[in-house]
Amino acid sequence: MLSPEYYDQCADVILEQYAALEDAIISSMIQKLLKHGFMTSSAKHQAEMLQEAGLLYTDILQLIANQTDATANHVKTLFEDSGVEVVEFDNKTHKKAGLSPVDIRQSDSMRQTIEAGCRKTYGQMWNLTKTLAITTQKEYINACNNAYMQISSGAFSYNDAITNAVKNAAVGGLDVKYPSGNVAKLEVAIRRAVLTGVRQTCTEISRENAVECGCYLMEITAHSGSRPEHEKWQGQLATLTGRNAGKIIDGMKVYTLHEIGYGEVDGFCGANCHHDWDPYYEGISTPNYTKEELDEMNAANIEYKGKMYTEYQISQMQRYRERHIRELKRQTAKAQDIVDFTDNPELKATAQANYQATAARLKRAEQGLKDFCKATGRDREKSREQVLGFSHSEAQRAVHAAKNYANNKLTFETKGGIIRPYEIKLPREDRKRIIARGISEEKPIFAVDTEINKFASYVKNIPKKKDFYDVALHGAPTSAEFFGERIDAYTLANIIRNRKDYVKGGKIRLLSCSTGNTESTGNCMAQILANELGVEVEAPTQTLWVNEDGSFFVSSNKFSIDGYMKIFYPRE
Ligand SMILES: [Zn+2]
Repeated sequence: MLSPEYYDQCADVILEQYAALEDAIISSMIQKLLKHGFMTSSAKHQAEMLQEAGLLYTDILQLIANQTDATANHVKTLFEDSGVEVVEFDNKTHKKAGLSPVDIRQSDSMRQTIEAGCRKTYGQMWNLTKTLAITTQKEYINACNNAYMQISSGAFSYNDAITNAVKNAAVGGLDVKYPSGNVAKLEVAIRRAVLTGVRQTCTEISRENAVECGCYLMEITAHSGSRPEHEKWQGQLATLTGRNAGKIIDGMKVYTLHEIGYGEVDGFCGANCHHDWDPYYEGISTPNYTKEELDEMNAANIEYKGKMYTEYQISQMQRYRERHIRELKRQTAKAQDIVDFTDNPELKATAQANYQATAARLKRAEQGLKDFCKATGRDREKSREQVLGFSHSEAQRAVHAAKNYANNKLTFETKGGIIRPYEIKLPREDRKRIIARGISEEKPIFAVDTEINKFASYVKNIPKKKDFYDVALHGAPTSAEFFGERIDAYTLANIIRNRKDYVKGGKIRLLSCSTGNTESTGNCMAQILANELGVEVEAPTQTLWVNEDGSFFVSSNKFSIDGYMKIFYPRE
């Protein structure tokens, strides 16, 4: 068997990835809401909204696709690891009984069991995740329609209506839809799919391994808070062959696989069942639990604020607090989204105030949970409080990259007969102001730290690369962000060309997310910059992840490395 702690933590990395995905999707939805024109006729509102909903749908599929390979690898690793783990654990018992069990890596049938379990689980996760595009699109349309009604009826100001819409969007997380039509929260559904899949695969491997060894008895684990139908056979024995069914061995009753519902959705190891089993040899093994221990399991023996609770009840109280913390984190992130993406100063100010208020509530809730755990002797499970991966803006940057193509309308301007791809037309004064500021900044780092994103500070710590001139700013495949304003490669070239510390003809290293990504566009910031300046430009093909110490990597996600620094040579 695998320990409860193992199960508790084994899905964490996968869940973190989904938390980041969820965050990116919510962010994408909020940006659409902020852009929507609410001061129009009903017909225009409807038409625009449906068009935006279509774009949102595409964005979400793109975000999901970006994550797919990395997730598949993690799921595969998890299944392989837990298979090896369970066999190693069980083999101690088989060896004690004088047997020499097989090595899992040499057993075809066990490998097939792992592969089948992994495929099935991943298939379920994928089917669930795909439904996000539809459920989120619906959510967006609802939020948009509600806000429109509130604004057009005069019941709410634009400011209040949008603030509410964002606050209420995806409360408790995004929804996924099961084939049955049932709806669940993404994180709950993924956690359930992974844990059930691992558990079923491992108990099956455990069974196969026992059969190979000629062991016909399995001892079922017991835990408090078991569902009543499982209570009668927990801590008892199961017979794999039918031998000795109904007998009492070492004080434990022997149940058949049919009786414990092995393979049934509501039976042993079915959905949400936390039971497991170990091989048991009569005359060699000793029971894991005494009768008293089994009775004790459902006793209310934990005190909290003067009242007694069972361990199960206490764990449920902890789960409730964790959910609350996740929701507050989500609300903080959403407020930050408005701050980042709205042009409306009033809305921005409201969001800023909301951000601070929610952040304060979050701090209190975290302290509350800490106190609760201390009082009840429980461990905090940080991963269950996690909702945003680690940094919200990191996920935002992923959104930027994914939606860049849709946003960046290709603008053509013939200047001396040259078509300038991905030029962003700015009013002359704005362009002049940006270039002037770019030239006068002490260092070519065109971003500032925010509370949750310290890119600007961290990027300073990246070790210099010989013969390269570093330029740092937030970026996307065909545009970059100059202190929060979107600029094109031509403006950036103009700034670099005119900076005193840049030696003409010097190579450039662009420390800017995805500016070397040509996947959806065939062109990118780095290439255009190379053309404009006539020099080599090195740039990341995916998001640039910079750590505080200046170490960095290039990847579409935090958990694997699928990108690199690519060199672009001038073409024209
Ligand atoms: Zn159970």
